[in-house]
Amino acid sequence: MLNQRHTRYTKLKKSDERQFRSPRRADPYRADSKPAGVNQCPHCHSVNIRGKWLSERQAGLEIAKMRKLLPFGVYEPLLQLNCPACLQQRDHYAQGVVEIRGTHWRERAIQVFETLAKTELISRVRNDQERILWTNDTHQNTKIYVTLPELARQMGRILQRSFKGKTHYIRSTEEPFLRVVWDSDGEVIYSHPLGRGRARGRKAIA
Ligand SMILES: [Zn+2]
Repeated sequence: MLNQRHTRYTKLKKSDERQFRSPRRADPYRADSKPAGVNQCPHCHSVNIRGKWLSERQAGLEIAKMRKLLPFGVYEPLLQLNCPACLQQRDHYAQGVVEIRGTHWRERAIQVFETLAKTELISRVRNDQERILWTNDTHQNTKIYVTLPELARQMGRILQRSFKGKTHYIRSTEEPFLRVVWDSDGEVIYSHPLGRGRARGRKAIA
């Protein structure tokens, strides 16, 4: 009897949490409603087909496939619509950041940036909205701002896999935002003010 009551309570609590949490973490640039027709972003030329943003090349292949299936179909003209990534660029609104710390990486800075550019390229094949927005370089650290938390997470993973060091992932509980701190020296320099955040990695090979 006690067990049953406990189970019921747990289930209710979980669903309550979900209801409470989802609106706060919803992406303000990507509404649930899909735009009607085939839309093209006038800035980056990305194309929206059935609610999914594709690169111009991917979209061309998709449209060719549709025309093969429906050779006599009526095709709507491409409508102009700003894509979420370009709106984020305009508003200076990143949803993820990769912070590069330490000194080791500076010796291999070109490879590090090439790796990040390649990660963006590969991620964009899966989701064309995963993009680097801008970078900020100071004496202390280098920051790469990106459109989506998934890209920041992937960059953190790839950096550690390729160059060792230590990576920390700090997710915002209020907004869809992920902060990734990669320390190329692999030392525990970073500490969260409340002692939160996950650390993964091992010491860099000097
Ligand atoms: Zn765009």
